Amino acid sequence: MANGSTTTGTASATETATETATATATESTATAAPRTEVRRPALSPSRAGDFKQCPLLYRFRAVDRLPETPTKAQVRGTLVHSVLERLFALPRGGRTPETARELLRPTWSELSEESPEWMEIFTDPVSAEEVAEWLTSAEKLLDSYFELEDPRTLSPEACELHVETELDSGVLLRGYIDRLDVAPTGEIRVVDYKTGAAPRLIGEAKAMFQMKFYAVVLWRLRGVVPRQLKLLYLSDGQALAYTPDEPELARFERTLEAIWQAILRAGRTGDFRPNPSKLCGWCSHQDLCPSFGGTPPDYPGWPEPDPGEESALDRAD
Ligand code: SF4
Repeated sequence: MANGSTTTGTASATETATETATATATESTATAAPRTEVRRPALSPSRAGDFKQCPLLYRFRAVDRLPETPTKAQVRGTLVHSVLERLFALPRGGRTPETARELLRPTWSELSEESPEWMEIFTDPVSAEEVAEWLTSAEKLLDSYFELEDPRTLSPEACELHVETELDSGVLLRGYIDRLDVAPTGEIRVVDYKTGAAPRLIGEAKAMFQMKFYAVVLWRLRGVVPRQLKLLYLSDGQALAYTPDEPELARFERTLEAIWQAILRAGRTGDFRPNPSKLCGWCSHQDLCPSFGGTPPDYPGWPEPDPGEESALDRAD
């Protein structure tokens, strides 16, 4: 399906997103004085998912912005996503399993230089053995990717594509798409790589929520309902494909609007309630959570300018 698409669309998608952001900034800034870019509060799939799962978790992450120590699996996911992005930047013929393996270590050197705190995932960062073992586990995910598809047959329009759109209701949606394939006929496929260690059944509903979020953004940006939403699970070599339709995306859009309104209501009052579930096992803030005997810090008020920004770790689950 993706064969034959070009990178022209990437520029056009990026320009559309940039134009939207620029137009918004221009509307709110009448004078021509030099200005720093102000990012309007927006809903991202990660933060919307947090609020749906547990409003207090949303508050800890988006409002209090409490630091979280990344796990080895999260950082490995970021690394694998980055290697795949670099792989697709190469001419088709060079996208081999060997090249992906060759890209792994230099990519990790760059990422760990940019974010030296990620070295804290290792019990002993100077233990070459521990780092090598972890890199080998990343190599296995890359090998698993090649069992799912052959990148030499694909011409994605974009990788790690930043998308942003404003719904008629004024709600701003923002996110990053792992890969966008566009067929010569205009059919769109959204591809997301899943590298996490969490059981698939727990992650699947969350992943589909994220994919429908991107589908709504693309539908609103381009006027086309994506033909396919595809999840590639690299940890177990499985793929899951889903075809959304327009009425479903319209309903999902209303769900996103309702989530944003609920976030704003909680933001005004500071009433972000805990919602304990089996997912609490993955929460870094149990010691501050009333459901686990903790006390949250005093509510700092609604943050400006943007409580919803996603990190690279958010995007690489
Ligand atoms: S421990 Fe559970 S209930 Fe408490 S904040 Fe985290 S996810 Fe929410």
